[in-house]
Amino acid sequence: MAGSGAVDAIEKLRNAGFQAYLVGGCVRDALCGVTPKDFDVATDAHPEEVKALFRRSRLVGRRFPIAHVRYGREIIEVSTFRQGQTDHDDLETDAQGLIVRDRAFGTVADDAFRRDFTVNALYYDTVTNEILDYVGGIDDVADRALRFIGEPQQRLAEDPVRMLRAMRFAAKLGFSIDPGITAQLEDTAERLEAIPKARLFDEFLKMFLSGYAGNVWELIKDTPLVRSLFPSCNPDSDLVLAAMRNTDERIGNDLPVTPGFLVAVILWDDYASRVSEYNPEGKPALMYDLAMDTFAVQQQHIAMPRRFTMFAREVWQLQPRLEQRQPRNIDRLLSHKRFRAAFDFLMLRGREDNKLAECAKWWEKVQTLDKAGRQEMIDKLPKGQKRKRRRRGRNKPAGSHEHSGTVFGQPRFDDY
Ligand code: ATP
Ligand code: MG
Repeated sequence: MAGSGAVDAIEKLRNAGFQAYLVGGCVRDALCGVTPKDFDVATDAHPEEVKALFRRSRLVGRRFPIAHVRYGREIIEVSTFRQGQTDHDDLETDAQGLIVRDRAFGTVADDAFRRDFTVNALYYDTVTNEILDYVGGIDDVADRALRFIGEPQQRLAEDPVRMLRAMRFAAKLGFSIDPGITAQLEDTAERLEAIPKARLFDEFLKMFLSGYAGNVWELIKDTPLVRSLFPSCNPDSDLVLAAMRNTDERIGNDLPVTPGFLVAVILWDDYASRVSEYNPEGKPALMYDLAMDTFAVQQQHIAMPRRFTMFAREVWQLQPRLEQRQPRNIDRLLSHKRFRAAFDFLMLRGREDNKLAECAKWWEKVQTLDKAGRQEMIDKLPKGQKRKRRRRGRNKPAGSHEHSGTVFGQPRFDDY
């Protein structure tokens, strides 16, 4: 069942006298009939020993060093069996008491108990084809149930991100979540505020860009988690759910996707209401500030890298321009580097609004035509939308390339 790289790595570790197993999501997914997306290996070899054994490997992580072993394009994470507890002598702390290094290695059984869900603590022996199960994980896979190893309250206090992981695995696999876990939703949502914002961004990517964002959103939208992750998002927004489903579809079809698009979707209502309140005339400079105000609130919860917020801002700022369809701007808009994304966004907005849907259809068509065809469509636009042409030569926007004679392909979001 394994990727050939992981099996190979295990064989190499075993030949060197170590124990080694497949562990975690790959074992769980394979048992559920889902193709694993990556493979994790657990071993009793210490990180330096792993590094010495594999030429193409490096150690990552300061607190718990683990080895990344590269096989072609595949990266296998090889982690050393660890104890779960933090009251041992091998813990190094800095002057403030922060753990800087935790070298409490353990046995495979110790390692099982420090993992989060029972279904994530299964060890697959690739030689005997047996599964080591210290925590009842096999039964829970059969029951399709997500249960923590230990008390939910304690496991969530140790790491509230485990709640987001519960939602993600439930969405991905259709498993039920132990009611003892959901009972902690309110407290955990609050505790998430203390988690580093960058780690929450990593988790955001896993939740919404793994191909099952729609399910994740349906699971979390009516919980306090939305408030602590996206405080200014309207959880009942149809746009958000539609965009999540659309993202899943794109991933399913191997089309590129970007977190920037989801940032645009999730924060749209907030941005749009700021615009209608403070900038009803749509002054461009003010638009920029209002977008930044929207992001500033969000950044206090999840650290969205600037390139994604800027992507969202560009998509937003193109919306009124796409809606206006000013003839002299059509070519410039079609060749704008965010046109594809902005057009897709307009399509989604059009699901709830006939006028926008009509406008989106217009753009869908015009982008497939050559210059003459485009001009014909522009000429048919309702009168009010046409502006008097200015001096010849000024019509051609600086920096826009001509697409004369060529036909635009089907919408593909090259920038995604
Ligand atoms: P997937 O890779 O499909 O997202 P996964 O279960 O492999 O799911 P990873 O984040 O790759 O998730 O983690 C690998 C394994 O490490 C998990 O299966 C689990 O055993 C353990 N693990 C990861 N994160 C935590 C955590 N926050 N607390 C405890 N154990 C964890
Ligand atoms: Mg994994």
